[in-house]
Amino acid sequence: MIETREERIRALLADESAFRARQAVEALFSPANAGWDEATALSKPLRERLAAEIPWNAFREIAVLPSMKGDTWKALLETGDGNRIETVLMRNSRGQLTVCVSTQVGCAMACTFCATGKMGFSRNLMADEIVDQVRFFNGYLARHPETEGAVTNIVFMGMGEPLSNYEQVRAALRTFIDRMGIGPTRITVSTVGLVPMLTRTLDDPEWPPVRLAVSLHSADPKTRRELMPTSYEGFLDKLAEWTEAYFRKFSEKRRHLTFEYIMLKDVNDTDAHADALIRFARRVGKVRINLIPYNITEGGLSKSTEETIERFQSRLKAAGVVATRRRTMGDDIAAACGQLAANTPQSTNIQNTKSQTEHKTQEASVA
Ligand code: SAH
Repeated sequence: MIETREERIRALLADESAFRARQAVEALFSPANAGWDEATALSKPLRERLAAEIPWNAFREIAVLPSMKGDTWKALLETGDGNRIETVLMRNSRGQLTVCVSTQVGCAMACTFCATGKMGFSRNLMADEIVDQVRFFNGYLARHPETEGAVTNIVFMGMGEPLSNYEQVRAALRTFIDRMGIGPTRITVSTVGLVPMLTRTLDDPEWPPVRLAVSLHSADPKTRRELMPTSYEGFLDKLAEWTEAYFRKFSEKRRHLTFEYIMLKDVNDTDAHADALIRFARRVGKVRINLIPYNITEGGLSKSTEETIERFQSRLKAAGVVATRRRTMGDDIAAACGQLAANTPQSTNIQNTKSQTEHKTQEASVA
């Protein structure tokens, strides 16, 4: 059962007209308001009643860390029950504002290259808690005139595995789309590749047509099992079958499916790995591979060199596989993919001390 704040507003205002409840919901999601007290479309007694019962935001702000380049902000937020999560805002060269949301406190998937995987799993986030990460940053942007605008894009690439929190994630998606006006093609849900859940998205009329990204990281079964404990004997075949089903259903033209591939030095970046990836890509149809520079975490892995990444990408392209590259943002504040671990003491000094990881910016994805 999902009890969203919207449902609670409707329940609380059951004695009022349906119009009043609708107004209250609109006020909650209006970027112009920073709290119930600013929702002046509502009467003062109504505002007070709502403020007493319905929290404006699910989180308490612990810290916001801007990156040195001024294009990334990491927020450390605390839930009502004292759990801490991280969420990241990024501004790209086109001025788009993307929030990377967390869907769980910690993560149970235990990928060897990911900082969140090392924390273990505490609990799922509720739909409102997912939505409020974006609302938090809209509020932050409004309070800081030097950072104009409102959030335009959302990626589910923060802490947690979205598809193992399916109902809450789906409810959050509906809220982003129906209440906050963020279109489904501006939202990407990234998954470790839980095939039964991926299949569920295909058959679920309530699942919106958002973009999907599958964290592949190796098309060689043994390498993938070593990197990702959720992988198993026959996984790649299952994923290939699902991908075929996806393209049968949605056609290749929409290109809303991406396979993510972190480039790990000597682990998955050799010619043999590129060839395995080419075979996988040819088998499933026209997928897009997004090559991701590895952001250092504990665990002894290192990032592929620039030359190796270029060579790998060229090999894919020469074989007709669409391969793009992801830019790294926010690595100086440990806000890059796979670096989120809700670690306050480590984070708080970062604004003043130049961090060890030099801020490296790869060129934006070019096909
Ligand atoms: N659980 C989901 C979403 C969180 S991870 C998933 O697995 O997709 C979001 C993306 O960041 C994934 O592609 C993930 O593999 C990648 N990632 C994780 N750790 C990383 C690291 N240290 N460097 C670069 N990317 C990383």
